[in-house]
Amino acid sequence: MTATTKPSIGNDADAQQARVDLAAIFRMTARLNMHEGVCNHFTVMLPGRRFLINPKGVAFERITASGLLLIDEHGATIAGKGRAPTTGFAIHTRVHLAHPYANVVLHLHSPYSTALTAIQGGRLEMVHQNAARFYGEIAYDDHFNGIAEATLEGDRIAEAIGDKRILFLANHGVVVVGETIARAFDDLYYLERACQVQVLATQTGRPLKVMPEALAKSTHDQFANFTVNADLHLEEIRNILDEQEPSYAS
Ligand SMILES: [Zn+2]
Repeated sequence: MTATTKPSIGNDADAQQARVDLAAIFRMTARLNMHEGVCNHFTVMLPGRRFLINPKGVAFERITASGLLLIDEHGATIAGKGRAPTTGFAIHTRVHLAHPYANVVLHLHSPYSTALTAIQGGRLEMVHQNAARFYGEIAYDDHFNGIAEATLEGDRIAEAIGDKRILFLANHGVVVVGETIARAFDDLYYLERACQVQVLATQTGRPLKVMPEALAKSTHDQFANFTVNADLHLEEIRNILDEQEPSYAS
């Protein structure tokens, strides 16, 4: 894909909208049961090497726009209440700083995507149009190094993802980066759906129907022209939450 210049989230109004949008995707991720306890982080990079991140120990269901922490690249809290994250920032800030268009970094142990990281040589196979969307956009880190506690591990992960949009971490989970919250969440969601289809298809015991590589590539290129759907997706998530759990935006 074509990289854009970051940061695109540049003024106070943008930062406030980023808080609302980030809270919205935390809530929707919980609704979709793609989250895991009080683990995992979603982050947005703001100018001045500052980052919005979820506070430690708060469930995705309870995240609010004003409850997000603003931290620096060392994990120190600049603004906000709550416990500062002790591990998440190590991965996220290094990816933000190294990646050419990572305004947004989402890390999750979502069940079906993570299932692929638990298979020897697990790869997203081009067996559905949602998989073809990610053709050529995925990096794989096949070496699990234990729980990330240091920025060194973050640097290793940042190097592994390179300029790709998706990183599968063996025995661990996935990292998705994007220029906008809408785009990154849309990728996270459709990646999980693509993995779900693959896992279900594999469970039949029948051979997978892998599409020809040229078709996977052309389908990917078609998807690249429909990024507006990501904005529509996020807008509708906000609409659902505005109706049903409006406290997310406060
Ligand atoms: Zn993790």
